[in-house]
Amino acid sequence: MQTIGLLGGLSWQSTQHYYRLINEGVAQQLGGLHSAQIALWSVDFAPIEALQHQERWEQAGALLAQAAQRIEAAGADFLLLCTNTMHITAGAIEAAIGIPLLHIADATAERLRQRGIAAVGLLGTAFTMEQPFYRERLAQRGALRVLTPEPADRQSVHRIIYEELCLGVLREESRAEMQRIAAALQRAGAEALIAGCTEISMLLQQRHTALPLFDTTAIHAEAAVARALSPERA
Ligand code: GLU
Repeated sequence: MQTIGLLGGLSWQSTQHYYRLINEGVAQQLGGLHSAQIALWSVDFAPIEALQHQERWEQAGALLAQAAQRIEAAGADFLLLCTNTMHITAGAIEAAIGIPLLHIADATAERLRQRGIAAVGLLGTAFTMEQPFYRERLAQRGALRVLTPEPADRQSVHRIIYEELCLGVLREESRAEMQRIAAALQRAGAEALIAGCTEISMLLQQRHTALPLFDTTAIHAEAAVARALSPERA
């Protein structure tokens, strides 16, 4: 089994789900007392969040690249960045390490392609919904059209993520707001919905929406388990 590197704390609310999902995935496949080999480095989110909102991506990337090097030094065979948003700095991280980065958008695009989805609605932070680093990669690799909410709705999703979900706060009215936004995306032509922020599935699950929901946290975790256990990498 390969050792999975996790760069977490972005936020820790979702990192705990990665840790659980990956261990459950390995236990399910290998049985008994088997669990995943993981090297986890969890950062303090507050300074990262400040850099994000000042759009100081280079500094944020440098901090994460340093954390990634520590994970590599701890013995990880490959790396997961446990967030969608900070894949904006994927290039800087990849340049700083000698192990592969398992990109969250690639894992998600692959899943959408397998399901034959032609148009998908994307929920995430404003950075993820508005900047090209994620949408374009997803569109190209998944061969699909990516729809995002109207500007006011994007702001609303962004606010719920930073002011509630990253703090572990789950509100019924915020779930209803996400459901309303998902329904608007469906009317605009979305055939499926991406929970493109690793905290969204804490609030919005498949039973809350009529659209097939692609949870990036679960998809990323499953991709990590598959890679760690694939025979040619044993
Ligand atoms: N975890 C979130 C994401 O998947 C948002 C927090 C962050 O900005 O890293 O985008």
